[in-house]
Amino acid sequence: MKLKGSKLFSILFIKCPQCHEGKFLERKVYDLSAFTKVRKSCPVCKMNYHMEPSFYYGSMYVAYALGVGLMVGIILLNLLFSSEFSFLRTFWMICVALISLAPLLNAWAKIIWANFFFHFKTEWKSKSK
Ligand SMILES: [Zn+2]
Repeated sequence: MKLKGSKLFSILFIKCPQCHEGKFLERKVYDLSAFTKVRKSCPVCKMNYHMEPSFYYGSMYVAYALGVGLMVGIILLNLLFSSEFSFLRTFWMICVALISLAPLLNAWAKIIWANFFFHFKTEWKSKSK
């Protein structure tokens, strides 16, 4: 399966939605000094990542969906693999997972949001010259 060129590649590796080569974030995901700050433009294909002011506010909807998905996943795992369902244990597992994965979920929310609007292009190299 060829992953590069698909939106999944851009999302999993948090790369530019257009060229799949340039970095999308200013710093690494767990570098909390610039909490999932998106670059102004792609360092490789020069695509502007901010098509309008406050563009990434919309990624909050995606972050919410990812958070709910994680919560449902943890509940299902608890129902499947534990002999007795404990509400309190499940609650704390969800809290720990959401807090420890918050930067990653936030970064994925932003790159998924960007992938709604920007698409992979192979012709960006010829245009940029
Ligand atoms: Zn790019």
